[in-house]
Amino acid sequence: MPIWNEEFETMSREDMSKLQLERLKTLVERVAKTSSLYKKKLAEAGVSADDLKSLEDISKLPFTTKDELRHNYPWGMFTVPLKDVVRVHASSGTTGKPVVGGYTRADLDMWAEVMARTVSAASITADDVVHNGYGYGLFTGGLGFHIGAEAVGATVVPASAGLTRRQLMLMEDFGATVLTCTPSYSLVIAEEAAAAGIDIKERLKLRVGVFGAEPWTEKMREEIEAALGLDAYDIYGLTEMIGPGVSVECRHHNGLHVFEDHFYPEIIDPASGEPLGYGVEGELVFTTLTKEAMPIIRYRTRDRTILHADKCACGRTVVRMEKVLGRTDDMLIIRGVNVFPSQIERVLFGFDELEPQYQIIIDRGKHELDTVEVWVEGADDLFVPVETANIQALEKKVEARLKETLIISCKVKLMKPHSIERSMGKAVRVVDKRNLDS
Ligand SMILES: [Zn+2]
Repeated sequence: MPIWNEEFETMSREDMSKLQLERLKTLVERVAKTSSLYKKKLAEAGVSADDLKSLEDISKLPFTTKDELRHNYPWGMFTVPLKDVVRVHASSGTTGKPVVGGYTRADLDMWAEVMARTVSAASITADDVVHNGYGYGLFTGGLGFHIGAEAVGATVVPASAGLTRRQLMLMEDFGATVLTCTPSYSLVIAEEAAAAGIDIKERLKLRVGVFGAEPWTEKMREEIEAALGLDAYDIYGLTEMIGPGVSVECRHHNGLHVFEDHFYPEIIDPASGEPLGYGVEGELVFTTLTKEAMPIIRYRTRDRTILHADKCACGRTVVRMEKVLGRTDDMLIIRGVNVFPSQIERVLFGFDELEPQYQIIIDRGKHELDTVEVWVEGADDLFVPVETANIQALEKKVEARLKETLIISCKVKLMKPHSIERSMGKAVRVVDKRNLDS
């Protein structure tokens, strides 16, 4: 299986640390001159590039938050004149102003490089036909994957998201061997095929899927692999860093290799901000070591994961991050109790009778306590014929399991297959109606 860039992906830990420190010092020196925000932040923290004697000294540098990015919308985070910026993307945030990402020509070259590493790690080569179902446009997914797949010489079909039946036709006619899209959309494709009586494994040649842009569980991986007959790879990235291309799984599926010569990862305690090191769960923080247009120091991603530094069987020596376990700001406070949607998901996926389609509805009546309803789709055979007693018994069983995990009570509503609204991009898992009342 090819490693796109042996020099950087299999570098000794010692050489990697040296390179990172060198790049970090250059970065800090540069932003102190070119960014009014970082000039101020570094002065307030009383730290300069000269204070960075080892990589551990990165903890002296201030964090950057999503709020700061929003306050500096649209161009305030850029450290080069707009004439040197050749592309912008923006996050798909549903509230307020989006987060903008800017790229110089060199940033686009670096993106193509890390995306070429990404698709190579997922075993994609010039022999593949890549059906790219990530949205093209402001969202980084479509164009990000596009440049990476082109860089390794694959045949790219820029399908974008939506018109699912047509996507199935194109995948069959063009002989797609690779599908790239959000994990929830891959299940929409599988459902649409089943509804149309198309046997995907029989008629399509898919062998690999590369899925990201939203957290997904191992159980969901099993569902996707079984439904589409492919090997599913997880990728990670964010607009604030570059888009996809920050990390990816190799064929061993034992965590995501981080391209840390460009994106330096740390794990911190989300409450105190203290660095936690390898093997401990905490909040993922990234520093862009090489970006020109929009460098970011110690960006708090709000994603929770664990880092590992041992060498992988594939030969790569770069740090691996575990599949994202959830987001620190996904945390819902319900009746004073902290609840992560991923906890609910793990409970639901423990039941074979349930499908991986669910929605969590939180509401608050006047002077009343918060209420939580979990809508989840059941397997077909639960409903033909409809055995109300069986359905109610299963609802009670799931409610009991949720209560054990979350401490608070939820009402579970078992839904018929395909009754929860599907999304072409990221799935809408939480509907918090409490915000509408305030
Ligand atoms: Zn590996």
